[in-house]
Amino acid sequence: MTQVRALVLERQHELALRDIDLPLDVGPGMVKIAIHTVGVCGSDVHYYTHGKIGPFVVNAPMVLGHEAAGTVTEVGAGVTHLKVGDRVCMEPGIPDPNSRASRLGMYNVDPAVNFWATPPVHGVLTPEVVHPANYTFKLPDNVSFAEGAMVEPFAVGMQAATKARITPGDTAVVLGAGPIGTMVALAALAGGCARVIVADLAQPKLDIAAQYQGVIPVNIRDRNVVEEVARLTEGWGADVVFECSGSPHAWKTIMDLPRPGGAIVVVGLPVDPVAVDIAGASVKELRIENVFRYAHQYDRAIALIASGKVDLKPLISETFAFEDSRKAFDRAVEARPSDVKLQIRVAAQGD
Ligand SMILES: [Zn+2]
Repeated sequence: MTQVRALVLERQHELALRDIDLPLDVGPGMVKIAIHTVGVCGSDVHYYTHGKIGPFVVNAPMVLGHEAAGTVTEVGAGVTHLKVGDRVCMEPGIPDPNSRASRLGMYNVDPAVNFWATPPVHGVLTPEVVHPANYTFKLPDNVSFAEGAMVEPFAVGMQAATKARITPGDTAVVLGAGPIGTMVALAALAGGCARVIVADLAQPKLDIAAQYQGVIPVNIRDRNVVEEVARLTEGWGADVVFECSGSPHAWKTIMDLPRPGGAIVVVGLPVDPVAVDIAGASVKELRIENVFRYAHQYDRAIALIASGKVDLKPLISETFAFEDSRKAFDRAVEARPSDVKLQIRVAAQGD
């Protein structure tokens, strides 16, 4: 164990930037990474404000942060695809490689997965971490650390677009224009959708999504999304509907949005169980898919960002210094509708 500085969630409502013991030995197959930038995620904020998410309860001090990019500073035995000085981003979830889920390729649903900043696992708002090289991905020179730290939320969008099985020219609907809804819309466009109808009630969020070519914003305060989708698709419906709002209201009319034989991809999680119109899904033979984090998406996400087909830079709303980490979290708690992603720059300088 080594004493290092970190942003520690002591308990609900209490954050401290202080020294804490973290394991930093570089074993075989591992790399040490100097953290550059960390994105503040809704889950980090939720642990801060609520002290738990579902069954995961903060019972002991925990370092926050799981959306990170940095530079390799040490390489363990047997690591061949990374070297000291490589700029990288990291998958925060480490499964048991021998688990049944991992062997099936679905390592994201391995019940034994260890995920950064999910109790009791420490996160990465600290200057250095040690991580398995196999879950560490090299960033091309034209992808910044800030973009590298956006790969984690974008990978959720990639997983949703993959599960949707988009066909070129599809029309998609995204319900909810929060950070994840926006990531899903961008992944759907990159995945071949001709247009993505994005629905929300917060105009600033819609304005941010509408910067991207192919996004059609619908403010559900003034317009009925079912009518809008029917109008835009001549009564046929959308090929794919991504539910990213987590709102129970979305489920009341969601079956009216897809075309016959279309798909619903569930990304947003309602806090309580919701009623689902099974008959509505049946008469259209809808396919319903679920998304839990992501698997095998980082390399593809990085490739799309590097190609210029996906530009995540406009979604970075503000960057805070490591010393101001608590300010970053208090700003995140404000939940300004014009904020998409807040980031913390742990490293002193350099891009
Ligand atoms: Zn996240």
